[in-house]
Amino acid sequence: MKKILITGCLGQIGSELTIRLRKDYGTENVIATDIRKIDGNPVIEAGPFEILDVTDKEKMLQIAKEYNVDTFIHLAALLSAVAETKPQLAWDLNMNGLVNALETARELNLLFFTPSSIGAFGPETPAKNTPQDTIQRPTTMYGVTKVAGELLCDYYHTKFGVNTRGVRFPGLISYKTLPGGGTTDYAVEIYYEALKNKQYTSPISAGTYMDMMYMPDAIDAIIKLLEADPKRLVHRNAFNITAMSFEPEQIADSIRKFIPEFKMNYAIDPVRQKIADSWPDNIDSSCAKKEWDFAPQYHLDKMTEDMLEKLTKKLGAFL
Ligand code: NAD
Repeated sequence: MKKILITGCLGQIGSELTIRLRKDYGTENVIATDIRKIDGNPVIEAGPFEILDVTDKEKMLQIAKEYNVDTFIHLAALLSAVAETKPQLAWDLNMNGLVNALETARELNLLFFTPSSIGAFGPETPAKNTPQDTIQRPTTMYGVTKVAGELLCDYYHTKFGVNTRGVRFPGLISYKTLPGGGTTDYAVEIYYEALKNKQYTSPISAGTYMDMMYMPDAIDAIIKLLEADPKRLVHRNAFNITAMSFEPEQIADSIRKFIPEFKMNYAIDPVRQKIADSWPDNIDSSCAKKEWDFAPQYHLDKMTEDMLEKLTKKLGAFL
């Protein structure tokens, strides 16, 4: 990895990944792109940035050539809950964006990473200790695009020899950039509300378990997999990875260790609940551990402590 192009870099993952990669690989060697610009955003201000709509194949190729990149990290996508409200747009962005990115990687012989999701599983998937290789019959448009994307990345590897790699991310929790409309967003919002109002109304019902991970572990996982020795990789795309699995009462209990008066209420969002019910309770990430030493550092309480500390500083000005 010497020169890296990232799409969707202003989102929840990209905004942190870009800054970490610039620190590790050099500011000028990480080219950030997104369909939009946010004035004053550190990703745009601190290094190379280009406006790029990932459905524009020509411009994508032109930017990749212009900067002479050797690595492509494709993040731009529509997330699960939003995708259910705009399924046609989700198909167009998630699939055509990915095909363009893979074609660019094929033409320029690039190392390639794109994330899949626990959303690639469905109600018939074994819900507990979900294996790496198992039934994938998702019932959401997001899931349909993620399964198709996993297969496409495998296809580009076996058919064209593209060095594709990927993970199935669980819900990602972070304090820098708000999540973009996923089913696990509640596990981020709850920390903001705990600090602002000492209470939270959960759209996901008590007892609904989902896999989660703190952003520093997610960023480490991307870099580790991209740097992994290809000879060790039996799987390539869509490694199951997770750091913890919890249900709303457990994250509330974790917050109460730091804010004892915190109260949890429920007003279930039927769209998000239905998606959550179709996803696994907890997935097995043993293949990622074996093939590239995946090793998350944060469990629930350690993450809660860090989230509350960082968010207190972030929100301090207007609390
Ligand atoms: P996000 O919604 O926070 O950010 C997506 C970014 O893509 C935004 O900055 C948006 O402006 C940009 N974008 C939208 N349309 C675009 C287009 N046509 N061209 C270029 N850019 C466009 O998403 P995220 O949470 O950072 O997720 C990144 C990837 O990780 C996605 O593939 C997502 O499915 C996957 N993922 C995320 C999570 C999570 O919890 N965040 C979990 C599993 C998988």
